[in-house]
Amino acid sequence: QQDFGMADALNKLGVKSSNHGTSTGLETLGSGTEISSYSPVDGHLIGSVTATTAAEYEQVVTTAQGAFKMWRDMPAPHRGEIVRQFGEKLRANKDALGKLVSYEMGKSFQEGLGEVQEMIDICDFAVGLSRQLHGLTIKSERPGHHMQEQWHPLGIVGIISAFNFPVAVWAWNTAIAWICGDVCIWKPSEKTPLCGVACQNIIAEVLKDNNLPEGISCMINGDYTVGEMMTADGRVPLVSATGSIRMGKIVGKAVAERLGKSILELGGNNAIIISPEADLRMTVIGSVFGAVGTAGQRCTSTRRLIIHESIYDKVKQALVDAYGQLRIGNPLDENNHVGPLIDKDAVNSYLAAIGKVKTEGGNVIVEGGVLEGEGYESGCYVKPCIVEANNEFEIVQAETFAPILYLLKYEGDVQNAIDLQNGVAQGLSSAIMTNSVQEAHYFLSASGSDCGIANVNIGTSGAEIGGAFGGEKETGGGRESGSDAWKAYMRRQTNTLNYTTELPLAQGIKFDL
Ligand code: NAD
Repeated sequence: QQDFGMADALNKLGVKSSNHGTSTGLETLGSGTEISSYSPVDGHLIGSVTATTAAEYEQVVTTAQGAFKMWRDMPAPHRGEIVRQFGEKLRANKDALGKLVSYEMGKSFQEGLGEVQEMIDICDFAVGLSRQLHGLTIKSERPGHHMQEQWHPLGIVGIISAFNFPVAVWAWNTAIAWICGDVCIWKPSEKTPLCGVACQNIIAEVLKDNNLPEGISCMINGDYTVGEMMTADGRVPLVSATGSIRMGKIVGKAVAERLGKSILELGGNNAIIISPEADLRMTVIGSVFGAVGTAGQRCTSTRRLIIHESIYDKVKQALVDAYGQLRIGNPLDENNHVGPLIDKDAVNSYLAAIGKVKTEGGNVIVEGGVLEGEGYESGCYVKPCIVEANNEFEIVQAETFAPILYLLKYEGDVQNAIDLQNGVAQGLSSAIMTNSVQEAHYFLSASGSDCGIANVNIGTSGAEIGGAFGGEKETGGGRESGSDAWKAYMRRQTNTLNYTTELPLAQGIKFDL
């Protein structure tokens, strides 16, 4: 059995066989029950963390509230300096953390490294942003008055993250929240808790080096019941939750009930439109990577290909050929294209989806199935499959978090393809492959894609941190990461200043005393 350097990586990251799952920043607490983390790569137990108890949660929130009082007054560029140091520590730990992401989540080592690079990139972005939290000046209608708009920190930001991006999603939120003057409490996915422990150890070093108080970066662990502690808690003004639509509907309601703010980053049902004007070589690479990369476990994974009838057979054959060359196996081995699903529940959902699409009338052209035997002992490795289907099928309308690709045919002009692409409840990522300038611009117009992300001549999968990331409709409407997504982590304040000795009342009202 090859170790791929995992023992050294865990050691470097300070991840032990049993870990405290609650952290106020520097101090850790661990009186709760243990959650074990098994690797989908080989089925081995990696380690455990303790779940956060109600008493520990109280301690975390009280500590975070205390830290906020100091942190909100620290000049934003100084907070940026802390985030810069965090980015440096991530650089130093990139290899080890990338390996742990790969081993605990199951994505390829290359993708694990890519995820850590995204964390580094968002730190760089946040450092620059820490000098650019610009407000506005506004012309007043009253003489001798001045108006302005400022952005202030919100307080505690609760971050609930999904298993499939076990470290990057936290960084997208936290790096921005920190420079905005907020303090954070993170609940990683219960499927990838050790990635959480590793990240918390990295930031704890930075906080310690700078003599900063406890409470700026906190971690809690556990299942949805621990997440609910935050969603129900009025002391947490913003909850940023990434995960399934099912979760988002519950979390969105719980936070809204107490009139808190939420950023919801939920499931997608992403399609690539393949026009007769497409470059087929690029199309096939983009489609296959989008559908099988991360074993179809990206929120932006390609689920549907909407192919023009005139090139349908050609594209279909090219995809079948490409799938024939896929190597499935240990994601730490660079020779493999496709790693495992996260756990056996995910394998069961994958099998159920294939069963359902068959009963609904789908035509399987690349067969799926669970792999067995040497190298596949975890029981989580599945074959990417391709099915000819209809957009109206119930199963095509849903997101199955696995490598199942549906082929849909369209006739006539690009509007028909766009109607199919938009004809689902989710609205995360979308793409068109075309060399027609008209089609490309139309796809990006108000009549085009209804998704938060719309691409031309690249696939649906992945995104750069510089843009705002998120989607519409049942994807939740939240935006994270770049552009002006930072505004969601702050409160807006409108100020009017009178620099005269007169007090003209609004609307010309006379109020003589
Ligand atoms: P999930 O919904 O099962 O869990 C996500 C997180 O929510 C976990 O930390 C979980 O403990 C927590 N949670 C679940 N129910 C909760 C509740 N009632 N209250 C509070 N917290 C609760 O999702 P998953 O299986 O980990 O991740 C896969 C899903 O995430 C897919 O649907 C994928 O598309 C989506 N996702 C979306 C984005 C995006 O940015 N749009 C990014 C990554 C993943």
